[in-house]
Amino acid sequence: MNRCTNCDVKLGPTMIGKEIKPLSNSSIDKINEFLPEELKSEVFCERCGLHQERVEMYHIYVKYKRYHNNLDEEIHKIRKEEAEAVANLTREKMKYFINFDDLIKFYSYVPSNITPIELIESQIIVDSGMWSTSSDNLDALWSAMHDKVARDGIDSKNKINEGFSNIKDLLKRECFIRGGNTVVDIKYNFSELAGNGKVLFHIQGTASINPEIEIPKFDNIEKKYSDSLSKLINKRKEVFNRKYNYSIENFVELIKTTT
Ligand SMILES: [Zn+2]
Repeated sequence: MNRCTNCDVKLGPTMIGKEIKPLSNSSIDKINEFLPEELKSEVFCERCGLHQERVEMYHIYVKYKRYHNNLDEEIHKIRKEEAEAVANLTREKMKYFINFDDLIKFYSYVPSNITPIELIESQIIVDSGMWSTSSDNLDALWSAMHDKVARDGIDSKNKINEGFSNIKDLLKRECFIRGGNTVVDIKYNFSELAGNGKVLFHIQGTASINPEIEIPKFDNIEKKYSDSLSKLINKRKEVFNRKYNYSIENFVELIKTTT
């Protein structure tokens, strides 16, 4: 044990006289406890225990800072992998959507015998081709639309209707991939964006199960993805924990106490 396993400096007396000592075992343990697996070291020398930022790239403070600064990128990478897995899972589920397309019904209220799953929503922007109005509610939008239709013909009305159909269709899919067969407590919202005829349609509801009709069953598909997804989620939680509970400042505080 005659070298620092972190910075590789030779321990003991140097040519110019000053001896480089290893840190105490308890300090080394404390540092290793803090560090991620890839930065742990059997020995840290007293130079590695200095807390000032130094130019040497092997210094444990510099190494940790570099590691910590990469965590955002790591989180981004994990999220991307998660999104890919979820997209694949959704794609597999959607193969069976056709059987439910006509089955899924919407209710503005909550019928009895319904088991709610979760809130779902969807939104789209429709270019209505309408003139500018300050409408942000259905009635105003409606009358503006009818004025426009009266002047210019049916086209903008069709666009609005198409917008309706599209968000309803999106919401159906959201319900289906959650294993629901009914959407209850539906609420619509419209707002005109920046007065340029573009209308934001927003719809929300609660994906639910009506036990009296066929219920989507995804157990086998979900089983296929559950392992890899939960691994990714745990990994992301670990990285989050590392980022916020093992900050660079905390590490500096820790190495200041080494002996
Ligand atoms: Zn060292």
